[in-house]
Amino acid sequence: MRVIALLAMACTLLLPIQVSGQAAGPPPAGWGPLRLLDREIAPGQKRKFRYQHTQTFEGSFLDTVVFVARGAHPGPTLCLTALIHGDERNGFEIARESFARLDPARMSGTLIAVPAANAHGFRTGSRYMPDRRDLNRAFPGNPGSDNTALIAGILFSALSEHCNALIDLHTGSFERANLPQVRVDLANPQALELARRFGATVVLGGAGPKGSLRREMMDAGIPSIIYEAGLPLRFEPAEIEHGVQGVRNVMIGLGMTGGQATAPTPAERTFARARWLRVPLGNGGVFYPVRKLGDTIRKGDLIARIFDPFTDERFDLPSPMDGQIIGMAVPQIVFSGYALVHVASAPASEAKALRPE
Ligand SMILES: [Zn+2]
Repeated sequence: MRVIALLAMACTLLLPIQVSGQAAGPPPAGWGPLRLLDREIAPGQKRKFRYQHTQTFEGSFLDTVVFVARGAHPGPTLCLTALIHGDERNGFEIARESFARLDPARMSGTLIAVPAANAHGFRTGSRYMPDRRDLNRAFPGNPGSDNTALIAGILFSALSEHCNALIDLHTGSFERANLPQVRVDLANPQALELARRFGATVVLGGAGPKGSLRREMMDAGIPSIIYEAGLPLRFEPAEIEHGVQGVRNVMIGLGMTGGQATAPTPAERTFARARWLRVPLGNGGVFYPVRKLGDTIRKGDLIARIFDPFTDERFDLPSPMDGQIIGMAVPQIVFSGYALVHVASAPASEAKALRPE
């Protein structure tokens, strides 16, 4: 009974997602093949293809795969991007598995997935592009600039032309794990709607860094969210399945597929901000967490310990605030200033007050 009441309360907080039609029967006039990156995908068809954009004498400088499912019936276009950070592998599997489960004959609208945006990083286990730049700081791209900016420009132009909504898939970075969470600009009602419908453990507010795909797509008027879950350089079944279910929930919410969605993220798990707790100056050493991902903590709670491996001195890291642990380093050697524990604070009930714009 209590669960039903909670679900009802969560649902009343959600605005309806706009649907562009899902009539049964043959495709109506105006709903035809999709043209994308020199390919054509007919209604009711799924295609995986390799896209190579050749520009330089030695060959392709963008070499990636694209998955497209064109529904038999009209509807919106949802885009999935993964491996923009080339070592964040869970996202590839979320995109691949989401695509594999789709039946385009029963689908409305279009799913476009770019599951390995930084294919070089996927192959080599690197976050960065071949020129050592961060692709997720290079959008919307620049045709007269460096290699990463050129690739960002090609991807951005294809995505911004077709997508009605975007889910960008990430993990924690550099030996840090993220609790399954969605990041979104809380000031945008359509994007917030996508974020809550996804149904991740936590929704975290924020516009994202300049040059990130999510922020630049939002600036182009396309509601966009990020799903973050798990560690880099791994394939983690629970985090992947959580993401696949989230993509399915969003597709159901957009009217693209049928079925029953799982519960949206409740308002009390929607946070307006988060803060990284770092190793204080002079307290580096061997790091062990005391609390775990997902724990709710109070100000003053002990959350981690660092031991000096030579002197055996111990440093206790208390939490400076109430909140929930949404990101955490794995046990390792840490240096002064290293980001250890990510704590979300300020529930959504306070979000409006925090975001006057
Ligand atoms: Zn990332």
